[in-house]
Amino acid sequence: MTLHAISAHRIFDGETMHLDSALLWENQRIIGIVPNASVPSHAQISHYPNSTVTPGFIDLQVNGGGGVMFNQDTDADGIRTICDAHRKHGTAYLLPTLISDSQDKINQALIATEDALNANITGVIGVHLEGPWLSPNKKGAHDSHHFYDPSVSSLKALTWPTHGKVLITLAPEEVNHEAIEWLSQQGIILSCGHSNATQSQLNPDTLSYINGFTHLYNAMSPFTGREPGVVGSALMTDHAWCSIITDGIHVDPTSVKLAQRIKPKGKLVIVTDAMATVGSSDDYFVLNDEVIRVVDNQLVNANGSLAGAHIGMDQSVAYAISWGIDECEVFKMASTYPAHALQSEQTLGYLKPEYIAAATILDEHYQTEAVIVDGKLFT
Ligand SMILES: [Zn+2]
Repeated sequence: MTLHAISAHRIFDGETMHLDSALLWENQRIIGIVPNASVPSHAQISHYPNSTVTPGFIDLQVNGGGGVMFNQDTDADGIRTICDAHRKHGTAYLLPTLISDSQDKINQALIATEDALNANITGVIGVHLEGPWLSPNKKGAHDSHHFYDPSVSSLKALTWPTHGKVLITLAPEEVNHEAIEWLSQQGIILSCGHSNATQSQLNPDTLSYINGFTHLYNAMSPFTGREPGVVGSALMTDHAWCSIITDGIHVDPTSVKLAQRIKPKGKLVIVTDAMATVGSSDDYFVLNDEVIRVVDNQLVNANGSLAGAHIGMDQSVAYAISWGIDECEVFKMASTYPAHALQSEQTLGYLKPEYIAAATILDEHYQTEAVIVDGKLFT
């Protein structure tokens, strides 16, 4: 067994910053963080003297990358391409995310995830189904022709993965209670999103099944004085995390900072909501037969409406820090907190003994230099 090490100027373990230290790991598991002078001489060491190491970034919402959309390339190879593209932007693990589509396509996505997990494709830890159980009033770039209220029997008929994480974004006001209860009983993580719910529709009983809220502020009923809407519920529901897009386009920095101030620590999570153009030279892709283009770093359809994000995790982190959010807090929003959101905080999200060796190595501008996934260093 080889003892591996990376030494760096700064190593953030998910709680504490260590200076001029080295991260040690062996056989995919972390041994610990030690001063540079204490690295055993037999260790295979890589040096990053100007860099910062954080727990590996985890992205809960990735629709595509490397020129591939999960909705189009719905197989293990597609997942591999997406994971490879996002690793170049610091992401150690991600959930390939299917935008609302047909029953057949949902089954394909679930089977592709199972195949990718069985093939140990680096970086995949589950799947995110964004819809099709959403509100037509908040459809965003989704095709509302796919939307419906699912019966429990129709859900049982899907080929659910036997391992890995499953996250579902749904609009609770559009889905019958039995279906929500059944999904929750299967251990599926439920997130409220693309929802036009009122506060009374998001009552305490319904909220007890909701683990999170998807891309806070975007595609949800807004906060107003007399009707707090989904935004108000998301901000005020302490047990639930909120994911948020920090590309500076989907959400104004002030609104990000407002959420950061209101949500309990650990409950605000950065996602990219990235599309095929990330990690690719392509400047367009096709979604629901519609061409989406990159224009001024924004992804827009023919009408000029936003359709996902053209950003990686590292730049999302760089923006949030530039807006004045505490640096270590931002690192946690990209690694530690999503690990908690996936209920994987016993194995991921920290650089501590016995944790899976997964880390992101950033230069002084927070751009990715290398990523460690399952003990393997990718430079
Ligand atoms: Zn969305």
